[in-house]
Parts: sequence; structure tokens; C-alpha cells
Amino acid sequence: MKKKVYISGAIAHYDLEERQAAFQMAAMEMERRGFEAVNPFENGVPQDAHWMEHMKADIALLVGCDYIYMLNGWELSKGAKLELDVASSCGIKVMFQNQNSDEREYACCICGKTFTGYGHNPYPIKKGGECCPECNKQVIATRKQLAKGE
Ligand SMILES: [Zn+2]
Repeated sequence: MKKKVYISGAIAHYDLEERQAAFQMAAMEMERRGFEAVNPFENGVPQDAHWMEHMKADIALLVGCDYIYMLNGWELSKGAKLELDVASSCGIKVMFQNQNSDEREYACCICGKTFTGYGHNPYPIKKGGECCPECNKQVIATRKQLAKGE
């Protein structure tokens, strides 16, 4: 089963469409890295509902996740700070958008385990995502076979 990652960042005080796009991009990036993204824009609460209604729904989504992904500028958001607090208190692993590559995490699209750094291109075994060094051996072997026309 895929690990779930909650996308957290500032929403209020920003252009809503820009934010929606930023969260969408982050969700796509996380899916590419082998996670199941949980986007608080899809919490089921009407966008104009009270802040507390959003927090309630968002925290419920968050505690069901394995990771939280903090978008750049999260420090400006009261909600995102709260989410970070909840995540650290519940043992949910924290990732930051502006993190450098040796702390970056991805889930191997072949064996499903989580690794740090950058993964390998899994083609032709899988057409998207990233795979770990161990599974990459199998990928290379498959590529060689294909090249030989076997
Ligand atoms: Zn693997």
C-alpha cells in the first residue's frame, strides 16, 4: 500500500487560484515520487466555510497520513504551523519542499519501500515514478534484454 502524504501550506492571504495550483503541483510531485497525496483543498468543506470547519476536516485527514509535506512559505500560515505541530506530536514524518536532495524521500515504485535521495528511472518495468538502487539492477537487466531483442 502506498504511503500517504498530507500537503500543508499557506492558503489564506494568498490568491486562491494560485494556491490551488501550487497544492495541485505538489500533489502531482508527491504522486510521481510514489506517495498517495492528500490535498486539503479536497477536504469536502466548502471553500467559504469557517476556518475552524476547515481545520477540523484537515486535521482528520492529516492524522490518517504517514507524512506531511510542508510547502514553501508554510511559516506564514497559522494552520500550517498547527498541522506541523500535530504531525510531530503524532509521529508523522515531516518533509519540506525546499529540502536538499540527501533528505528528500521517495517510495520505490517497484518494491514500495521508502528511500532518501533521488530514485532511478524505472522504465521499462514501470512507466513513471522512481525506483531504488536495488530494483534498478532488475531494470538495467530488462533494458539489456530488450536491447538484445529477447
Ligand atoms: Zn525498490
